[in-house]
Amino acid sequence: MRPEDEPLDFLDQEPEPAAAGGVAWKLLIVDDDVEVHAATRFAINGIRIAGRPLQLLNARSAAEAAALLKTEPEIAVILLDVVMESPNAGLDLVQRIRHELGLGDVRIILRTGQPGHAPELNVIRDYDINDYKTKAELTHTRLVTALIAAIRSYDQLRTISENRRGLEMIVTATPSLMRAKDLESCADEALRLMMSLLHLHGDGAVCVQGGIGDNDGERPRVIAAAGRVAGAAGRPLEQLGDADLVAAVRECLARQAHCFAASHTALYLQGGQRQAVMLVRSERALTVVERQLLEIFAANVLSCFGNVTLVERLNHIAYHDPLTRLPNRTCFIEELNKAGASAAQGSVVCMIDIDRFTDINNALGHAVADQLLIAVGQRLGQACPGCHLARIGADTFGLIGPEQQLAPERLQALLQEPFAAGDQLLPISATIGLCRITGSESGHALFNRADMAFTRARLNPHGGPLYFSPDMEQHTHWRLEVLRQLRRDFHDGRLAVWFQPQVSLADGGLSGLEALARWPDRRPDAGGFTQPPGVFIPLAEESGLIVDIGAWILDQSCAAYSRLAAEGHAPRRIAVNVSMPQMRRPDFPERVARTLAARGVPASALELEITESQLLDEPQLVLRNLQALKQEGIQITIDDFGTGYSSLGYLRQLPIDCIKIDRSFVVEIDRGRGDLFAETIITLAHKLGAETVAEGVETAAQVRCLRNLGCDTVQGFLYGRPMPADQLAGWLEQRALH
Ligand code: C2E
Ligand code: CA
Ligand code: CA
Repeated sequence: MRPEDEPLDFLDQEPEPAAAGGVAWKLLIVDDDVEVHAATRFAINGIRIAGRPLQLLNARSAAEAAALLKTEPEIAVILLDVVMESPNAGLDLVQRIRHELGLGDVRIILRTGQPGHAPELNVIRDYDINDYKTKAELTHTRLVTALIAAIRSYDQLRTISENRRGLEMIVTATPSLMRAKDLESCADEALRLMMSLLHLHGDGAVCVQGGIGDNDGERPRVIAAAGRVAGAAGRPLEQLGDADLVAAVRECLARQAHCFAASHTALYLQGGQRQAVMLVRSERALTVVERQLLEIFAANVLSCFGNVTLVERLNHIAYHDPLTRLPNRTCFIEELNKAGASAAQGSVVCMIDIDRFTDINNALGHAVADQLLIAVGQRLGQACPGCHLARIGADTFGLIGPEQQLAPERLQALLQEPFAAGDQLLPISATIGLCRITGSESGHALFNRADMAFTRARLNPHGGPLYFSPDMEQHTHWRLEVLRQLRRDFHDGRLAVWFQPQVSLADGGLSGLEALARWPDRRPDAGGFTQPPGVFIPLAEESGLIVDIGAWILDQSCAAYSRLAAEGHAPRRIAVNVSMPQMRRPDFPERVARTLAARGVPASALELEITESQLLDEPQLVLRNLQALKQEGIQITIDDFGTGYSSLGYLRQLPIDCIKIDRSFVVEIDRGRGDLFAETIITLAHKLGAETVAEGVETAAQVRCLRNLGCDTVQGFLYGRPMPADQLAGWLEQRALH
């Protein structure tokens, strides 16, 4: 071994076996003396430093050197003559190298023929000159040793620069990673960064995510890809299209650690129940520095992945219904926004509500009801591919799609088959409202329109699905306005309760009074009533205001009864109408009992009128409350009988005391179909052991007929119109005179 060879292996001590393989260190000789070029070439012939050979570049003048430095990258060392075209040409060149060309890493060894031309010490320091030797001093050994030192220094500087560049890249790139909205774009960006960190140009790079732990079954999939496999993003790993890469990914997933192989680099990322591999194909092994940088990079990417996954999860929660896994109302309205903006021709938005769902829930339990919802969602989804399906309410689904696919008849036919839920097959019916998407309406506007159509359809359960029409909008505005006034007037104590007498056909005496709500308009110029109860009661029912109004009416009725009783005019009973929202309250029977007690009215003096349609709404709930009321001793009357669809079997279960024959059947008595309906109802009532009250009685002929049929009580304008409580005594006295 040559003594001068000894320090040559300095870089080999670092574990960079094939570090940049045979890439030569570039050595630039700048000298106007041809001899020097030849001598230097001879002196360093065959030498390798840190396993790499030297490549010589030659320049005969400072000018030539400057030109060459501009085009030739990564020159490690310059052997520079001081005196060339001018006595200071060498030093001038050093200044250009450092300041103009901005080359800070290249090492410079000054050589001069005469000691007299030695530069000042401060020059050596300021220009970052490595070494200064007279040509005589630069013997073979000295030259090589100086070169080794310079190259080592150059290499360290390069490493530091490279490090800084990498770190800077990681630091500046992190915000762009953090900004990524979803995992896919985050992975794309991370992959791009990884390749530019490694100076690779995107051949066969891939990023794969798969589950571990509880998620073990989840198949790894490609979430971002570049280079030849770029098209594989979104596919399962097996379909990456490059067996070597697939194997490398699998190996990395199995080892759960970074893999730095000669052919590829794979970074392993793990967070929570997820793991990912970022794999880049490379033709060379990485330097220690590159590996360290990648480790920092991987930690950064991982936290960005964690970030986007969290954001994605939050987004998912914000936009999805956990039960059916369908998009929720918020998401649906956003889809509607898009559909409205694009005025998707021939598209409709549709709302489908399961009828009597609360009842299913109460009767069969939440688990079965949940399964029903899931089953309905699934069937709708399968039957309407390409449409946007969402769960927009507890038992309401929304759909956006082409009109022919969402035709109401088609949807109804679709829901006809019973649904499997629990171990039952449940038949359901649904209410459907639709709205055509025509102009550029906002999502909210479209939603509201479909909702209006739906609300209308619900008000008329047997009328079938309804499309939105502009008059519905006007109607809605009007309704909201009326409701606002009603709420205000109710709170200001402006409502009134009037009473209509019921007369016993047996003895002609006052058998009862029906309490009827009135909304008087107290404005001096408005004679009469603001809205008839047939209008404002349904509004109050829809808004829930009826719960308070109803409680107040019950209280007023009891108060009126007490007063009449005190005056010796007490009728047998006082009848009060009850709406579904009141009946739906589980504590309704207790509330009634409290009111009776507070007003000192016996339970047997109270009769509650429930419409037949109410009985059908939520049969189980209604039945439970009716039984509780009945136990208290309160009378139960079915109002508007014959206008609903209750089955005889169902009616038998109910604790009914009385049936009211609807005015429409009483009217028939004087008309075409005669007494057929009245007779049927009276017979039925008697079979059920219930009394009958005929309402809307206006003629003596009706009374005769009803008496013949065995009807017990009559109520109608023939006897008396509804009147304020304080007019009742007068009415009674007048009757007594007849
Ligand atoms: P309803 O319970 O069937 O009440 C009977 C309706 O028929 C009353 O209308 C009454 O004024 C009317 N009527 C009585 N006799 C005759 C007659 O001989 N000829 C004609 N043409 N009509 C007659 P009203 O007061 O307008 O009430 C309409 C509906 O509003 C009621 O029908 C009831 O469903 C509801 N309603 C009224 N007050 C209340 C209330 O306090 N609570 C609840 N929940 N609903 C009420
Ligand atoms: Ca009634
Ligand atoms: Ca009625």
